[in-house]
Amino acid sequence: DVQIRKGIDPKELYDLETEIGRGKFGTVYKCKEKTSGLQLAAKFVSIPKKEDRRNVEREVEIMRELQHPRLIQLYDAFENGKMMYVILELIEGGELFERVIDDDFILTEKSCTVFMRQICEGIGFIHQQKILHLDMKPENILCLTKTGNRIKIIDFGLARRFDPDKKLQVLFGTPEFVAPEVVNFDQIGYGTDMWSVGVICYVLLSGLSPFMGHTDVETMANVTIAKYDFEDEAFEEISEGAKDFIKKLLIKDMSQRLTADECLRHAWLLKKESPPPPPKKPSIFQMDTAKDNLKLFVERWNEHPNSPYVFEASSHSVSNLRRNNSLHSLTALSPSPCGSLSSSVDSDSHFQDMNDH
Ligand code: ATP
Repeated sequence: DVQIRKGIDPKELYDLETEIGRGKFGTVYKCKEKTSGLQLAAKFVSIPKKEDRRNVEREVEIMRELQHPRLIQLYDAFENGKMMYVILELIEGGELFERVIDDDFILTEKSCTVFMRQICEGIGFIHQQKILHLDMKPENILCLTKTGNRIKIIDFGLARRFDPDKKLQVLFGTPEFVAPEVVNFDQIGYGTDMWSVGVICYVLLSGLSPFMGHTDVETMANVTIAKYDFEDEAFEEISEGAKDFIKKLLIKDMSQRLTADECLRHAWLLKKESPPPPPKKPSIFQMDTAKDNLKLFVERWNEHPNSPYVFEASSHSVSNLRRNNSLHSLTALSPSPCGSLSSSVDSDSHFQDMNDH
């Protein structure tokens, strides 16, 4: 059971190697444990403020409970001065979406089901442990290896323990992937992650982002009314089963969405031991339009790193946005295209765990 070790410099125990990733909160390096030679990943997070430390402590506490093959595994953790170091299992295959746009990768509906099944298994386990991920998006799904099809869910930086008897509302997320109840500052729940799973599935099958508008405010307005369609030509190649799967996740009413377990029992994801389908059936049809779109999607995301951010307060006229909560002192943010906003709001004010309803 990993405890956060204090006053130890992790460089005494681990050799630091190249940088392999960077997020809003931390920088991730490849590293090697000196005693065992084990290759691992070290996430460095600076903690200038008490809340920063509390956030990393919460991330570590949550990860300790999440021991599952579809989820990134915690190895060790340190606190030293104004830095925290989280040592993680190393995942070397890169982001799932980078993988699927590779010229060597044949993108079919079948391969999408292989990924979606694993995502649902991972989320199902997280939910079983009464935890919400709350930051499900393509960049938080990594491939275990460069050539295999196994994936892992990473980044529990926004994850929260969930007690269905208590009211939990949050004010963070990534506009294209965030659920209506987050935008509306309503109660959230397991369904909040399932909405994001639905968006990920839509993007994976088409390369298109279902709710994206010209600005974040427009995107969030589309999300609040759950406005999307399958009209693009990319969906001509997609089976009714896949569309039905998405339709049962992208529902405004959180309680009506499929749970992770129900997703795994949905006909589209059910493993069938049947003989291979005849040629041109959607499941083996190469999704060329989707792949071209996905390349553009990944390009756009790389240009505008989509870190989660705190939602706009009250200065915008999106009718469904309710942001006048006196318990929060939100910094007003100006909208920018493609979700590249950043915020200066203290991370603890991003959410609220209220027992008082
Ligand atoms: P965000 O801004 O998305 O909240 P963050 O600061 O919490 O990010 P992570 O998402 O945990 O940081 O990590 C940043 C990036 O580093 C990831 O997008 C991923 O590409 C890479 N990364 C993180 N953990 C690992 C790992 N264990 N193995 C390999 N790469 C990793």
